[in-house]
Amino acid sequence: MREFRENDKSHAICMRCEKHVATTFTYRDVPLDDEAGTVEHILVGVCDECGAAVSVPVQSKTFIKEFLQGIEAERRDLEQNGPSLARFRKFSRGRENERDG
Ligand SMILES: [Zn+2]
Repeated sequence: MREFRENDKSHAICMRCEKHVATTFTYRDVPLDDEAGTVEHILVGVCDECGAAVSVPVQSKTFIKEFLQGIEAERRDLEQNGPSLARFRKFSRGRENERDG
C-alpha cells in the first residue's frame, strides 16, 4: 500500500464536479456519513477544482476505523456502566458540550 503525504498529487472522481479531477492530499476534519462524529485531522484527497474531499487513502481509513471502534467501545461502556451521557456527548460532539450540566 502506498503511503500518501500532504501535498501529494493524485486523481479521483469528484461527485460535486461529476468528473475525473486532479486531487491534492491535505489534512482535513472529515464528518462521517452516519453522524458518528467528525474524524479530526486525517489525510484526504481534495479536488483541485472545487475543494471537496473526494478520496480517502487506506492509511486514513485505518484511522477512521479506529475512531469508530473508539465510539463503539464508548457505547459498550455506556451500556455496562449506565448513562454518563456527558462523557459520551463530549466524545462524540467535541468541546461544545464541555460545560453542559
Ligand atoms: Zn470537484
